[in-house]
Amino acid sequence: MDGVISLRDLRRTEGATKEFALSEPVGDALEVGLVHIPSDRVVEAQGVLEAVGDGVWVDGEASAEVDAQCSRCLTDFSYTTQAEIKELFVYEDFAEQYADEDVSFVKDDAIDLEPAIRDCLILDQPLVTLCRPDCQGLCPECGANLNDEPEHSHPDTTDSRWSGLASWGSMS
Ligand SMILES: [Zn+2]
Ligand SMILES: [Zn+2]
Repeated sequence: MDGVISLRDLRRTEGATKEFALSEPVGDALEVGLVHIPSDRVVEAQGVLEAVGDGVWVDGEASAEVDAQCSRCLTDFSYTTQAEIKELFVYEDFAEQYADEDVSFVKDDAIDLEPAIRDCLILDQPLVTLCRPDCQGLCPECGANLNDEPEHSHPDTTDSRWSGLASWGSMS
């Protein structure tokens, strides 16, 4: 992904803003648990850059289609993720002041949004993937998908004992 954006027209003028928009294949595939963004998948990102005292503040969002596997029923599904990008890029001459902070740096009058975009896409993914909020999962006995077969059940010893009790009860 080419995430480099020139800052030349901002001229380090505090308060100056510039809109940006990117549409780039993700490059290195992203993988988080059961979530996957293949390398050729296009990521869209847009937002505003604003020159502040020590650097450039980026406020935008990135979106991409994500392939996932449901953690309950193991079905593949996909969804569009939309994540916020909020990142400060500090001018190199302030580097010492920010040495201990988790910020990115302006380089050659440009910023590279790629790491920020990748991070925000990763952080936006759920810890538990569900194909739908009420996914019924798989039958623990035979692995049948209970979403497809809501009436699915197995006759077992517990059931027959209960039906025995029920008929005994109805006799009295
Ligand atoms: Zn599911
Ligand atoms: Zn079953």
